[in-house]
Amino acid sequence: MSTPPDSGILTRRSFLQWSQSMLAMLGVAPLVSSSAEAFAAPASSDASAATDYYAKLGVKKMINAAGTYTMFTAAVMPPQVQRAVAEAAKHPVHLKELQTRAGEYVAQKLRCEGAVVTCGASSALTLATAACIASANNATAEDIPQKVGSMKNEVVVQKAHRYGYDHAIFLCGAKIVEVETLEDYKRAFNEKTIMTNFFNSAGAGEIGHEQWLQVAHEHNVPCHIDAAADMPPISNLWKYTGMGFDLVCFSGGKGIRGPQNAGLLLGKKHLTDLAHASNNPNEGVGRGMKVAKEQIVGMVAAIDWLIEQSDETMAKEFTRRADVISQIVKDIPTMKTSIFTPEVANHVPHLILTYDPAVVGLTPNEVQQRLRSLDPTIELNPSTGSPHAGNGMPACPNSLVVGTWMLLPGEPEIVGRQIRAVLKQGEA
Ligand SMILES: *Cc1c(COP(=O)(O)O)cnc(C)c1O
Repeated sequence: MSTPPDSGILTRRSFLQWSQSMLAMLGVAPLVSSSAEAFAAPASSDASAATDYYAKLGVKKMINAAGTYTMFTAAVMPPQVQRAVAEAAKHPVHLKELQTRAGEYVAQKLRCEGAVVTCGASSALTLATAACIASANNATAEDIPQKVGSMKNEVVVQKAHRYGYDHAIFLCGAKIVEVETLEDYKRAFNEKTIMTNFFNSAGAGEIGHEQWLQVAHEHNVPCHIDAAADMPPISNLWKYTGMGFDLVCFSGGKGIRGPQNAGLLLGKKHLTDLAHASNNPNEGVGRGMKVAKEQIVGMVAAIDWLIEQSDETMAKEFTRRADVISQIVKDIPTMKTSIFTPEVANHVPHLILTYDPAVVGLTPNEVQQRLRSLDPTIELNPSTGSPHAGNGMPACPNSLVVGTWMLLPGEPEIVGRQIRAVLKQGEA
């Protein structure tokens, strides 16, 4: 950069950049140090001047045709949420005051008594367990998990609802008591029971929501439901607390499209207050589950964004994207396109592209691999080529599965063209 920017108007910032690079070229130390720049009031052009750290680190960007998968960094925050996060980054606040006000605001918007912005759904489950231990034992956050072995510490769960997130419960030192039949369930309650956990999208288990709640509440035991990925519909954000679940967790970074390291614990105020007590910065089991001010604000902003949306408009848009892709690939030999909407989790239209691999010359997993090797990389839904039904999706041995809901503007066209180009390679 040897001439000043040619816009005619030389802003303070662009002059500084220009003059410093000139001085650097001449081997002279800059007159205005970069720390002086750091203390200056942020220029309004800051966002557009941001460094692309993915490029700097050599990390490939992704076109997310999969869905809100944790390993693919889940969702991209809508622009108004991104702006709220950037704004929050500019000022310190009292963390507890922000946590309290954010909880109150979310609870009011989502029609429940209390709320905690957590470090994700998994961390919400840990804080829920800690709250139920504290409540049942009249214990404090400092007792968890060291003293839990000799306390009331049993969590009742259906065998079909056991999952990897059980670790979030074990972290508090609690135990899981497994049940299958309603009779098992009734017998499982004793003086050591502190809570129950219900895995909402399990799609299995003999005991339904209503019966589950009724029996637990007869024993005065609070029920937590894991609905992490179960939005849309938007009304699910108040459905389960409305049904009588004492605590409900949601992932902040999935369909809600908040920060990926945020989530929600919603429910009865006396329990969410106890969850707050175990949360960072208090030195309890949640101390390592810090949600920074930027992410707390991002979570709240995502709720504000979401409740202005409509399920119908979103489903229509995701279907339109599927149609764009279908149109581009429909003349591939043997190709059949269809739409599938999973029942509970990821309840949005997915595009299923079914073809005969023997005719096309590439299996769905080979296509998936070739799309992955592109730059930007394209990730299809993990049920692509899967011989087994799972996660609410059917078996797709001869299909590519495209989750269209996380695609950004212009990407459906790119995904369609790239799938078509790869499928054409098989003919060679
Ligand atoms: C994604 C998920 C979680 C974890 O959510 P995080 O926000 O990543 O902690 C927990 N339970 C279920 C059922 C999920 O799908």
